[in-house]
Amino acid sequence: MSKITYIDEVAIKNKTVLLRVDYNISLNKDLTIADDARIKQSLPTINYLLEKNNRLILISHLDRPKEKDQRFSLKPVVKHLQNLLPNFKVYLVDDFLAEKNQKIFQEQTTKEILVLENIRFYPEEKKGDEEFAKKLASLGDVFVNDAFAVCHRTDASVVAISKFLPSYGGLLLKKEITTISKTIKNPKKPVVAIIGGAKISTKLPLLYRLIELADYLLIGGGLANTFFCAQDLEIGQSFCEYEQISAARKLLFHAAQKKTAVVLPSDVIVSNSTNTRNGGLAKKIDEIPKGAVILDIGPQTQAQFGSIITKAKTIIWNGPVGYFENPAFRNGTDFIYYSITQNNNATTIVGGGDTLAAISKKEYIDKITHISTGGGAMLEFIEKGTLPGIEALKK
Ligand code: ADP
Ligand code: MG
Repeated sequence: MSKITYIDEVAIKNKTVLLRVDYNISLNKDLTIADDARIKQSLPTINYLLEKNNRLILISHLDRPKEKDQRFSLKPVVKHLQNLLPNFKVYLVDDFLAEKNQKIFQEQTTKEILVLENIRFYPEEKKGDEEFAKKLASLGDVFVNDAFAVCHRTDASVVAISKFLPSYGGLLLKKEITTISKTIKNPKKPVVAIIGGAKISTKLPLLYRLIELADYLLIGGGLANTFFCAQDLEIGQSFCEYEQISAARKLLFHAAQKKTAVVLPSDVIVSNSTNTRNGGLAKKIDEIPKGAVILDIGPQTQAQFGSIITKAKTIIWNGPVGYFENPAFRNGTDFIYYSITQNNNATTIVGGGDTLAAISKKEYIDKITHISTGGGAMLEFIEKGTLPGIEALKK
């Protein structure tokens, strides 16, 4: 069976290594870094390769620029990386294809780390263009992918590049793949999945997979509203994907056949708008006023979800269960977080861009077994058991 070789299973020494990382971090308005977690998580692989006398060329994207656009430059990232690696000189290469820059590559020493400017400045990247990947590959001797969070993409620097170079997985990739695989292949029961967020449409395949995997599927957030509609409950002015109501009904039917308990909120917090400064009111789910907006799970639901989480041996969580951007509606999400961290008997996996934003800088974060760096990538990996960027590394 073909498998990935990770960098700690081969001797990569004195080479020029093209390292795909995920520095798609959020920037503040003044273009400083809001959260450097993704940069820090790449350091074990970077240090490992540097210790073996390799020259590193880092490849990353930032956000979704359509073309060259300085608002999406990796400059702030390079500056930060320089602070984290004071014994090396970190340079940004503004255009790796430019004739004037070729000398930089030819003369790179082991004391210099080169970072290529936002790889999505080249439209070929998103197209997975092979000619472009070949040009990228020509810069190095070896390709290492440590960017789990983009492995669900078929971009040139994720998939096509590995056709042209010996290719390996980095240490972060190894941690993501081994932890999540182990948890979904042979989970200790009971398995509890908690899914929140806004749209059911983006999470349907995942929900079907979780019905197979989990004993309990707890549903909160805007996602739950579509299920309420599927049960002909009044949801007032709340967010709902009306065109997904029949999909929600089918899913509930499927879960019943598989004997997976789908637990929907029995009470919720309602308000008249998302941006109110005041908290909302707790309402039973069959007593939602016509003008109301559902913005969080209610206290009774917290207790019910909490008692299921307490008994779990495996927990998978993605998606805030309320409109957490407004502090008035983040109690449910906080409650889920603390319930998970208080369960010392469970293997816990948490992922998702907004989910991580909701729990970042909280106490007890080390109680969570694995916080995935992948949002979409983690969900697709749970669903399919592999990803395009992972398959590309298999030999
Ligand atoms: P993640 O990025 O962790 O995968 P999602 O993107 O699926 O999570 O969902 C997060 C979004 O869901 C947040 O913007 C949050 O405000 C929204 N959300 C959660 N509950 C509700 C709700 N009751 N009504 C509207 N939006 C909600
Ligand atoms: Mg999101």
